[in-house]
Amino acid sequence: MPVIDDDVIPARKPAAHAFIGFEDEGFESAFGKMEGGGESGDSPTDDDDVVVFVHYVDYSYTSGNVKGMQNMELIKIKLSFSNAYLIKGKKSVLVDAGSPNEADKILGAVQKAGINARDISLILHTHGHFDHAGSTAELKRRLKVPVAVHANDAFMLREGRNGEIKPRNLEARLIMLLVPNSFEATEPDILVEEEMDLNDFGVEARIIFTPGHTKGSISVLCNNEAIVGDIMMGGWAGGAILGSRPNYHYFIDNIEQLHASIKKILGIKPQRLYVGHGGHLKFEDVFERFSAINIIGN
Ligand SMILES: [Zn+2]
Ligand SMILES: [Zn+2]
Repeated sequence: MPVIDDDVIPARKPAAHAFIGFEDEGFESAFGKMEGGGESGDSPTDDDDVVVFVHYVDYSYTSGNVKGMQNMELIKIKLSFSNAYLIKGKKSVLVDAGSPNEADKILGAVQKAGINARDISLILHTHGHFDHAGSTAELKRRLKVPVAVHANDAFMLREGRNGEIKPRNLEARLIMLLVPNSFEATEPDILVEEEMDLNDFGVEARIIFTPGHTKGSISVLCNNEAIVGDIMMGGWAGGAILGSRPNYHYFIDNIEQLHASIKKILGIKPQRLYVGHGGHLKFEDVFERFSAINIIGN
């Protein structure tokens, strides 16, 4: 990653971008190209406890006569039940904090991705469920960074509980039986409302409000990528089967809000959508999946 003078950063705008290395297009080369990180020749497999996929997003910026580029990376951390993500720019933001007792796995993945844990500036939550905030309290103790969640889901972190879970079908009812009702509580430091820019935390990304799965679900936009949490999921069996096929999540708090949020995301046209379970999903597949039920368009 190039060294960038702080003074020239504020005026930069995302312009050109390039992606190198996807799960299905040989991420080994991405590890090979990673500066100062990743063990070369280390090709993660699904047998690993933690699978780190590295995606490169290049941002060009212009400030006065100075042109430069900041590399942004999006790193997927595959945990036992859910995915967490790292957005790496000048600093790194952790998006979601796994299920209970996964702090070590997450910090192991951070190290494996070549990121210094001290460069993590924020623990952000797509929503407050146990599989996204389960290790937040432990990570906050160890990383000593602020914790952010949407105001509507703040009670979940504060009280260490999921709130009301509404299963959408019989399969979801069965899965609900496996869902722990409590996790270690922690007081959030930042309550997100509608939108929030993450520049202050050293990454070129912004938060938008996408309720429906829970009342306080948010998505993170990073150039042409979107981390959308559980507003949809990949495949079946929690993403284990056909994980790149867009699907409804098991739990939906409010279907009208959910559809409005999916429309909002599709209106932004991210190339790829990164979900809490399974994934990633291609824009075209998500568009087709949800066009079929007539929620896209007028
Ligand atoms: Zn959830
Ligand atoms: Zn989840």
